[in-house]
Amino acid sequence: MNSPMLQKLVELRREFHKCAESGWLEFETTIKIITYLDKLGLEVRYGKTIHGKRQGLPSQEKMDAHKKLKEHLKCDFDVEEIFQGYTGAIGILDTKTPGPTIALRFDIDANDIMEAQENHRPAKEGFSSEHKNMMHACGHDGHIAIGLATAQYIVSRKNDLKGKVIFIFQPAEEGVRGAKSIVQSGILDRVNYILSGHIGFMGKENEIICGVGGFLATSKLDVYFKGQSAHAGAYPEKGRNALLAAANCTINLHTLTQYSGGMSRMNVGTFHAGTARNAVPAEAKIELELRGETQDINEDLRSRVEGMIEASAKMYGVSCEIVEMGSAPAYKYEKNDFSTYVVKLLEAQGFSVSEGASMGASEDVTYLFQEVEKNGGKALYLIFGTALSAPHHHPSFDFSEEVLEASVRCYSKILLNLLMKQEAAVSK
Ligand SMILES: [Zn+2]
Ligand SMILES: [Zn+2]
Repeated sequence: MNSPMLQKLVELRREFHKCAESGWLEFETTIKIITYLDKLGLEVRYGKTIHGKRQGLPSQEKMDAHKKLKEHLKCDFDVEEIFQGYTGAIGILDTKTPGPTIALRFDIDANDIMEAQENHRPAKEGFSSEHKNMMHACGHDGHIAIGLATAQYIVSRKNDLKGKVIFIFQPAEEGVRGAKSIVQSGILDRVNYILSGHIGFMGKENEIICGVGGFLATSKLDVYFKGQSAHAGAYPEKGRNALLAAANCTINLHTLTQYSGGMSRMNVGTFHAGTARNAVPAEAKIELELRGETQDINEDLRSRVEGMIEASAKMYGVSCEIVEMGSAPAYKYEKNDFSTYVVKLLEAQGFSVSEGASMGASEDVTYLFQEVEKNGGKALYLIFGTALSAPHHHPSFDFSEEVLEASVRCYSKILLNLLMKQEAAVSK
């Protein structure tokens, strides 16, 4: 029999799973989050005020099509900017009693994946994604539920608390596009602690990994090659071949990842070129990403990548344009007073805790962590272990929903311990 808290969490998670929306298109998701936070009585910010410069927006066409689907939603607040892709929301609880400021970050976007139907619980139990090619295949639906339930619990205890809590519901984590924009809004300027986490990944069922690092710096680039079309039989010399420039570029780019100072990665993930068999291809586009264990490696690799793209274009007499679609800095976990404090606290609560793990992937929460640490604050990333039906980003991805309750209990415990007023702590 599920506890009332778990029942509520499952209901919330499934509601968000159903309305899975990809990065910068989280229109309904954002509206639902705002409505929830507003009901709790939090100060809610959204739209342009929580953003700086956004990266990796979907095409205007995609944005308009999704807006059309959601325009009917009735709200008693202004949704105009949300429909322009200024998605995400921030809820603030200010106790007005001096104390630390803590930020929690939850990512809210889905993946561009078509959800599986066969042998898949969401399909069997009627909460499959309503949107074609959009699916919560990373567990961010769970993160939203955890964030909202944690906010609800903390609000219920607000009279016992000091300081401030900032609940950040961040859009467009997939492709590392959303965090930079949120940081630029200045919301983290006076934050003492920031916490974030992820369900699944390498965490064993019921295990909490405290202090995760090894996040690789990354840049996501779209590259457009533009040449000259010509009749491939009659006047081939008049053409300038964008496909060959892109093809040579792709093969050569993969030779660049040789660094002695740490890991590096390079991947050209898509390649599209040409329009007809008998015409010299005038257009080509590649989508690529590069990663580095350190900032220096990523930056050096990026400058060599850009050099190679430009040189490849020059070889074939075509032009090129490089557009940054996403980015995140590297982040290394180092054991510190705060992480030791949290480990002890969670162990005392009976959680099975292990300390320190390396992600070996990228996460744009590192922008937020970097900003808080730059101002003297502390950051901590947690993994909430759970059983998975398939790996992250797989069409059959699903997780054991018990993890939701453990995650809320974990965040709530940390918040209470950092924010409890002295007299309340004594009287408990
Ligand atoms: Zn993901
Ligand atoms: Zn994720």
